[in-house]
Amino acid sequence: MQMNPRLSGLRCIRCEALLPPGDYPEGCPQCLQAGHPASLACHYDLAAGHTAMALPVLNPVTLGEGATPCLDAAALAQAEGVGRLWLKCESANPTGSHKDRMAAQLVSRARLAGASRVAAASSGNAGVSLAAYCAAAGLQADIAITRNCPPLQREAMQRFGARLTAFDDSLGRWPYVADLCRNQGAFAGTNYLNPPVGTHPYGVEGYKPIAQEIFDTCGLPTDIVVPTARGDLLWGILLGWQHLLTAGLIPQLPRLHAVEPYARLSRAHAAGDARGQWEGATDQYSIAGGTTTLQSLQALARSGGSPVEVSDAAAAQAQQRLEHMGLATELSSAAALAAVTRLRRAGQLDAESAVVLILTSDGRRG
Ligand SMILES: [Zn+2]
Repeated sequence: MQMNPRLSGLRCIRCEALLPPGDYPEGCPQCLQAGHPASLACHYDLAAGHTAMALPVLNPVTLGEGATPCLDAAALAQAEGVGRLWLKCESANPTGSHKDRMAAQLVSRARLAGASRVAAASSGNAGVSLAAYCAAAGLQADIAITRNCPPLQREAMQRFGARLTAFDDSLGRWPYVADLCRNQGAFAGTNYLNPPVGTHPYGVEGYKPIAQEIFDTCGLPTDIVVPTARGDLLWGILLGWQHLLTAGLIPQLPRLHAVEPYARLSRAHAAGDARGQWEGATDQYSIAGGTTTLQSLQALARSGGSPVEVSDAAAAQAQQRLEHMGLATELSSAAALAAVTRLRRAGQLDAESAVVLILTSDGRRG
């Protein structure tokens, strides 16, 4: 395990300042001071003609994440009136969600940085994934959960040896995690700022291979539908496609669409500001919360995609359709299928569209 010697810096996605490689759990220091939390993106010095996808940590701690199935769902494509439709089944990752890709890079970096513990705010898949990878790396995981955390998620984190602290509300966890990271030497496994930034860019880079895997299986799709909360997955997938574009392997980016349980990104976009608070009630707990991030807005803007709101009722109906095909999904993953119906009705997808849905998790601990 070692840092990639080609990683040459981190560039702010807002002010474009270039910082030396390192750990910036609060994003760009300059933009934070200006009141605009902004993520950083990894910058590599790659030789000309280098087409392999670079990641920050080489030979990271692994539990076998990645290389997930991408199923060709011809019947669904026909039912939705689109040309092709694939299901990228991220539930096939070791702890059952896409988060394992991020945890492998992030926890490996934590160990290389000399940390002995990782602190995170999560009541779901991220907490379980970080707990598992911390166990694999020999690090302590400190997870701040909410009191309504599903019992099976809580139990899974504990079985992997995580220390849990419960809070009444979601936002109440962030000051606790901030204290652990700022004052007690913990490595940040999730955001703890409000307004938030994306998770550590080294972790988010772990999502890039999703683009490569889709490209290897499906070629270049026209549209990718991604369940989205704070946009780490959305942004990481965009970075992957951007790499393929820069390497000359694709002529343009696919459009990335962000699935949300209620309007956050469309309102942030209208306001020209990601920092608002847009609360709503939802059972799609993996993409719940009232905040959004600059990286989400930029992923949509750069790829030409849209935010898509999907109600719990529409997500539940889509969940049943997938179950009738033998596929278990958590509600927020099934929402991606409901989003296809909406995009098709709005004329944003048509009979020529080649669409990939990211099924983030199967809800086995919901
Ligand atoms: Zn900046």
